[in-house]
Amino acid sequence: MAKARFCNSPDCTRKTPFTPISDAAVYCCVRCKNRANYIFTNLEYEFEVLRHKERKRNIKILEYLLSVGQWRVSYELLLQMGFTFEVTYIPFVDGNHNKNMRFGNCYLKMVDQDNFEITYINN
Ligand SMILES: [Zn+2]
Repeated sequence: MAKARFCNSPDCTRKTPFTPISDAAVYCCVRCKNRANYIFTNLEYEFEVLRHKERKRNIKILEYLLSVGQWRVSYELLLQMGFTFEVTYIPFVDGNHNKNMRFGNCYLKMVDQDNFEITYINN
């Protein structure tokens, strides 16, 4: 049987040592293990975590616009809604030289300098 030890989670509420099931266990419970991983990821990969949140917000904005039937949208409106263009990647440029950005299941096609079209894609 493994020796009793203190939990490694930075915000564990347990004040006493726990007896782990195996020698490798460093957390007292699944909650502490998940919480420690969450804290580590947010500190160590802060840039990527933030970018991921921004991309998810962009997806919500595009899906909302499609849900209300607005598939043509201006650059200005997207900015007002909190869209972040810095997290864009462009998987392809179409035959008319329009840049197509992908966010989740939506393509955002740049029609000209100020206007975009949104299309939903089914994979
Ligand atoms: Zn714990």
